[in-house]
Amino acid sequence: MADPHGFLKNDRADAKKRPTTERVEDWREVYLDLEPEVREKQVRTQAGRCMDCGIPFCHSGSAGCPLGNLIPEWNDLVRRGDWELASDRLHATNNFPEFTGRLCPAPCEAACVLAITPDAGGAVAIKRVEQAIADVSWEQGLVHASQSTVSSGKKVAVVGSGPAGLAAAQQLTRAGHHVTVFERDDRLGGLLRYGIPEFKMEKKVLDRRLAQLRKEGTKFVTGVEVGVDLTVDQLRAKFDAVVLAVGALRGRDDTTTPGRELAGVHLAMDHLVPANRAVEGDGPSPLSAEGKHVVIIGGGDTGADCYGTAVREGAASVLQLDQYPMPPSQRDDSRSPWPVWPWILRTYAAHEEAGERKFAVAVERFIGDDDGHVRQIALRKVRVEKDAEGRRAVVPMSEEVEVLPADMVLLAIGFEGVEHMRLLDDLDITLTRRGTISCGSDWETTAPGVFVCGDAHRGASLVVWAIAEGRSVANAVDRFLTGSSDLPSPVVPN
Ligand code: SF4
Repeated sequence: MADPHGFLKNDRADAKKRPTTERVEDWREVYLDLEPEVREKQVRTQAGRCMDCGIPFCHSGSAGCPLGNLIPEWNDLVRRGDWELASDRLHATNNFPEFTGRLCPAPCEAACVLAITPDAGGAVAIKRVEQAIADVSWEQGLVHASQSTVSSGKKVAVVGSGPAGLAAAQQLTRAGHHVTVFERDDRLGGLLRYGIPEFKMEKKVLDRRLAQLRKEGTKFVTGVEVGVDLTVDQLRAKFDAVVLAVGALRGRDDTTTPGRELAGVHLAMDHLVPANRAVEGDGPSPLSAEGKHVVIIGGGDTGADCYGTAVREGAASVLQLDQYPMPPSQRDDSRSPWPVWPWILRTYAAHEEAGERKFAVAVERFIGDDDGHVRQIALRKVRVEKDAEGRRAVVPMSEEVEVLPADMVLLAIGFEGVEHMRLLDDLDITLTRRGTISCGSDWETTAPGVFVCGDAHRGASLVVWAIAEGRSVANAVDRFLTGSSDLPSPVVPN
């Protein structure tokens, strides 16, 4: 039973970050390392703010946690100091809470009753509690390899080793199937490895989880592009089912702004991947921002990742632009009400460190030098409207054009679905109008025995959705292979 007065005694307190001057000098996670006793005291206080609502909106539903995390249950266990049971209850619904605790924008917090109750001190710091449970679980040896005692004799190939693929693989291995995860890159993890900067999640967090999956029996193959190095005929001959977890990495380009063709204008991932490789020890990034005036177009997660990366690389200046107005959380201290908050423009840790943001502006043209390299951008104030057909329209608001230095421009304006790959052609996979992989209500694609999950199905989305879809597709594959399944299926295809 939760303390019904906990939120009256204590306000929400987020985890403290290291000083900005310190953290821009390294790639480590931005949060302060607390002594275990201090962390325990703080997190137990925060968990104690949970009211254990009769209807916990945080836990599920259209705006809460897609995984159905048992939030009030583990909040109360943490409040009482029972970390072992809290770890058990957290892992019951979430394969990788250390990923979501660090990377998820926490729709559960936006859905928390305390977030929408005036003068309640703010939403319960669910994400902070989740990360603490996950970290304590690893530190105290509470995370074990869970080896299946049965074998179905069935073989499953999972293509892609991001969070969706890993969740599907872990669930299916634990159900007794023989699972091989194929990753075309040289290291495992997909976006978690080469898309997410170290300052948001250190790769040791990923590596320890991969070690657990290996111990449980999941096999991994890197440097193999399925469809090319392993043909579809070979794939079909070797495996009884296939899960496509190939992500949605086709970056949206700017095809209309004059000057896009200039050298120095890149898609965001072209900057992030080599930067993350450099941190892994692969040598200097060929697209380092060092000494450059960097302009990032797009105000979302990927833009913020470029922002923090460029600052750490030693950019001369960093400017992030967005066509939308400044978010309410920056204009004043109020919390935007559920359910809008996690999906509007947010302020990220990187924005506290250096650089500048401009809102309600659009680039009118990129201006180059005689060598064809971008050197400036021309900006205009804009307003985003919907036209008569409901389509998004960007309307200029001023005659005035502002010209600013820019010798590296990063387009972080979203993703347009799965990349073109021979695998999908050879499997005869049908795509949706959004460029994602089409599937039925059982997650099966237009290719029999081939299933899809994560961003490849949903489009670029949150890590929590990737894990939820990975768990759900595992249930579907298990049923396909054996006729029934006890595996959980927290979400349905959209
Ligand atoms: Fe606790 Fe908030 Fe969930 Fe209610 S909605 S159970 S207060 S976390």
